[in-house]
Amino acid sequence: MAEVYFCQMNLTERDKKFIWHPFTQQKNMLPSIAIKNAKGSLLFDEDGNKYIDAISSWWVNIHGHAHEYIAQKIYEQALQLEHIIFAGFTHKPAVELAEKLIKILPGNFSKIFYSDDGSTSTEVAIKMAIQYWWNQEQSTVNSQQSIVRRIKIIAFNNAYHGDTFGSMSVSDRSVFTLAFHSLLFEVIFIDTPTEENIADTKLLISAHENDIAAFIYEPLVQGAGGMKMYDAGLMDELLQYIKQQNIICIADEVMTGFGRTGKMFASEYMQTQPDIICLSKGLTGGTMALGVTACTEKIYNAFLNDDAHKTFFHGHSFTANPIACSAAVASLELFESEKSLQKIQWITEQNIAFAKQLRQLNGIKNVRVLGTILAFEIMQGDDVYLNNISAAITKKALDKSVYLRPLGNTVYIMPPYCITEYELQKIYAVIMELI
Ligand SMILES: *Cc1c(COP(=O)(O)O)cnc(C)c1O
Repeated sequence: MAEVYFCQMNLTERDKKFIWHPFTQQKNMLPSIAIKNAKGSLLFDEDGNKYIDAISSWWVNIHGHAHEYIAQKIYEQALQLEHIIFAGFTHKPAVELAEKLIKILPGNFSKIFYSDDGSTSTEVAIKMAIQYWWNQEQSTVNSQQSIVRRIKIIAFNNAYHGDTFGSMSVSDRSVFTLAFHSLLFEVIFIDTPTEENIADTKLLISAHENDIAAFIYEPLVQGAGGMKMYDAGLMDELLQYIKQQNIICIADEVMTGFGRTGKMFASEYMQTQPDIICLSKGLTGGTMALGVTACTEKIYNAFLNDDAHKTFFHGHSFTANPIACSAAVASLELFESEKSLQKIQWITEQNIAFAKQLRQLNGIKNVRVLGTILAFEIMQGDDVYLNNISAAITKKALDKSVYLRPLGNTVYIMPPYCITEYELQKIYAVIMELI
């Protein structure tokens, strides 16, 4: 009976029956578009419409959708070994990926800890940093010179580090977190650095000097916070100051990693490098969920002990999943064979030229570019996520075959690196038409 009933419905209707979508008010929700397949920068829906994916499918895709090389590697790995418990066992894809990452990560990273996605990668980073100080304190409990553990964390206002409780705690208190504020742990929030505020920020940090365990930040671009960009020189100055206080620096490169900002990692724009770095989204070329938290020898050594209590008791069922790791290895190989960094450079130049054009226009403000990311605000309503101009723009752009998903009144593009000149120009043209 049920089967007959479902056959009469299209996918969108069947979706509505049993599925609850993320970040979506289900009441009066617009019908979800059923995507049948995708190739390169193009998405094809069940009704035969095609759209240019201007935002890389929630910022994850980098080499294009349904890439044959990555697909092949996933297939081969799935036939070979699809999953193995990662405590007491290891496998080639995890080892190869760790070797490749250590080679390209900025700074002195020496260990790779795997998890499932961006939120778990930051959650792991926060727990590592907190336990780092706890382990230090344990070491000195019975000795003369005692280290008091530090438990406070600094984060930026307007930050986004994920949706689990720890990552929510270090994120901006916003509409995303409103229902949970009383349950989130306390964090010292500072503004992203400007000439005007950097001296005061340093004063604030020094007032808490011996309490601060870690500082977590999205280097140079605050993604979900509205693609807000800030200065690399000032960030370097701030990082240097913070590191001098022995505070563990955690770079959340979940969005900025793998070429997004014009360099392989946004941290490369600074001299001062983090102690911990979080990766996900583009890690597997956007094909499989996988998180990485890389740390320096200093952090790792604080856990290396005969005392079992100092173990890092964290892990997920799918930690270092072999298929996901294979996809990530394949994606890194593509950076070389497809000369991705050159394509990124080309997109950056196109973005800079288009930004010049945009700055001539009225009705928009704060036009900015960093690498493949271009963003600006539409001056209509408030600068908030719930500004409903977003849905209107998405709808209008879809009608013109481009997929955009503004963050409130912040319109941005972040295309896959395989985007063609025609496709990129088409996105620019649709944006011009819309504003
Ligand atoms: C998307 C994002 C996260 C969360 O990643 P998920 O995979 O969605 O859990 C964390 N930090 C940053 C900077 C992000 O952009």
